[in-house]
Amino acid sequence: MSKNIIEYWDPGHGVDTAGKCSPDRSLLEYKKARELVKDIVAKRRAMGYDARILVPEETDVPLSERCRRVNETCNKVGKDKVIVISVHCNAAGSDGKWKTAGGWCVYTSPGQTKADILATDIWNAANECLKPYIDRFPILKEQGAYDKKQVPIRADWSDGDPDYEARFYILMHTQCPAVLTESLFQDNKADVDFLLSPEGHKAIVDLHVAGVEKYVTSI
Ligand SMILES: [Zn+2]
Repeated sequence: MSKNIIEYWDPGHGVDTAGKCSPDRSLLEYKKARELVKDIVAKRRAMGYDARILVPEETDVPLSERCRRVNETCNKVGKDKVIVISVHCNAAGSDGKWKTAGGWCVYTSPGQTKADILATDIWNAANECLKPYIDRFPILKEQGAYDKKQVPIRADWSDGDPDYEARFYILMHTQCPAVLTESLFQDNKADVDFLLSPEGHKAIVDLHVAGVEKYVTSI
């Protein structure tokens, strides 16, 4: 049991990042990410872990500075003793209109690393914790909230695991295992309703807490 893993929880974007919000501005990505990370870190700390908020600032701290903070700790304690989870909400467009894409997914950098194990643990937890969202999805799809090809928990099985792969800066430039979660779409009305509900917020918090718990207790 690895209680000595340092967890960096990265709230995506900042108050000054343009365009990262729902069309009606009821959900602001930087704010939602901070609320999620605050609650996740509180739960992880209560469980006895060294969980840290990577960006306590409200502003959009540059990705290079976010990575510098992580790598400084990696250099101190060893990169196998640190993980990063960057928390975001997805978007299908940037024209300020509601869309019909929806769902949850997780990203790693290309190739197989420990981050793929971490991503799979969080993905499995998402399938458990997002039950209320998953159960409602077909009905909402029927009502037109989601287009035909949408699924509640997205996966890319092309390389044998469920995470998507992308060369996102935070994933490429941190030395330790790093994943980036996209918790539902900020430009889908049904997704935003779920994210803003107490039940939805708790489900997103819980899937991160449970997924990381699985990882740190099994490596
Ligand atoms: Zn984002």
